[in-house]
This record gives sequence, C-alpha cells and structure tokens, in this order.
Amino acid sequence: MSAKGCSYSEGICHKIVEKCQGCNRGAEYSTGWFCSACPDPSVKWKSGNCNMASHVSAAAEAKKAKINPLKASKRARR
Ligand code: SF4
Repeated sequence: MSAKGCSYSEGICHKIVEKCQGCNRGAEYSTGWFCSACPDPSVKWKSGNCNMASHVSAAAEAKKAKINPLKASKRARR
C-alpha cells in the first residue's frame, strides 16, 4: 500500500491485523490502516511472526541472545 493506492494484484489491500499494532510499517490512509510493506498482513502472521515487523524483530533478537547460553559458555572457555 502506498499513497498512490494499492499495488497488490486486483488492487485490493487488506487492513492491518491486531498483531501489527506497534509496527512502524503500518500507515493510516483515508480508507483505514494499511501496511506499507505487505498487501495482506494476515498472511504474514499465519505462520509465526511477520518477518517485516519492526516491533517484533527487536524482541526476537533479544530472545535470540537469551537462548544461546551454550554458545556463550563455549566462547567464554576459549
Ligand atoms: S510489516 Fe508486518 S507487522 Fe508490520 S504492519 Fe506490515 S504486516 Fe503488520
């Protein structure tokens, strides 16, 4: 979705979903809230987190840092 309108096939973009709340890519247009990166946000969230989401990637990275204690201990042994 852009200021010119939707470039999705058939010209129909879908509004952002609940999980999109807080994402920087969501933008308000006269017809409602849409995602500037993805025409159908619900598809993005079907199988896990949206890979374009600006609000979850930061949280996911923080998680990644936490779930690698094994590697961290190996690194510390060197
Ligand atoms: S990038 Fe993903 S999370 Fe962000 S508004 Fe678009 S679909 Fe939603």
